[in-house]
Amino acid sequence: MLFKLELAMLVDVHAHLDFRDFDEDIDEVIKRAHGAEVIAIINNGTDPATNRKTIALSAKYHLIKPALGIYPSETVKMTEEQLDKEFKFIENSKPVALGEVGLDLKLLPDLKIQKEVFERFIKLSEKMKIPLIVHSRKAEQEVFDCLVSSNAKLVNMHCFSGKLSLARKIEDNGWYMSIPPNIVFSTHFQELVKTVSLSHLLTETDSPFLSNEKGGRNEPANVSFTVKKIAELKGLDTTETENNIFLNFSRLFKGIRTK
Ligand SMILES: [Zn+2]
Repeated sequence: MLFKLELAMLVDVHAHLDFRDFDEDIDEVIKRAHGAEVIAIINNGTDPATNRKTIALSAKYHLIKPALGIYPSETVKMTEEQLDKEFKFIENSKPVALGEVGLDLKLLPDLKIQKEVFERFIKLSEKMKIPLIVHSRKAEQEVFDCLVSSNAKLVNMHCFSGKLSLARKIEDNGWYMSIPPNIVFSTHFQELVKTVSLSHLLTETDSPFLSNEKGGRNEPANVSFTVKKIAELKGLDTTETENNIFLNFSRLFKGIRTK
């Protein structure tokens, strides 16, 4: 069923505005996001330092909502004690989601520690009743298996680059996939959008990466390019597409206040 509403409400469920790339002009970046009718940017921490920066950004800008996590390749750099401390910090900080978390076989061939930490995040997601924002580069099947065996419910696969057959299973499990602005030229994301129902799609930027302009710095306002391309591929009106994606967002991120 498609909903028709009048207001434009764009969402960026995965960004890294804590990166140095934004140190000089973050106010302008946020202003442009407002101008593009973005109503929520979920900033994803990747280690203790960026988790704290994410909290600080969300305190300063109403538009920014904090997701906290440990990037897969960071997990092996931390001691057991540091991990315990970070998990406590994350839980106490009451983020809107756990991200960026997951597995990565491109940067790190050994999955042992990555898996232990990821499974711990899946348990925390269940305890806190907040979604996981999942990284799965070159480890898509392994991530899927982990999520299934841990009975994960609230899941968004960020920048999913696995097989389309696996994308169908992700949808069947009731999980979501967020699409970045490089869909304007990425045939993989175009095929992904054609394969997955609109009811399981979200929009992201992964700012400063994955811009609609090759090699350009990405920013949250660019989710509008993703929405336009999804609308075109689905043969729908842009506003209709925006509103349906917003509905998906409200369904997954129940605790987020956008007003
Ligand atoms: Zn990311």
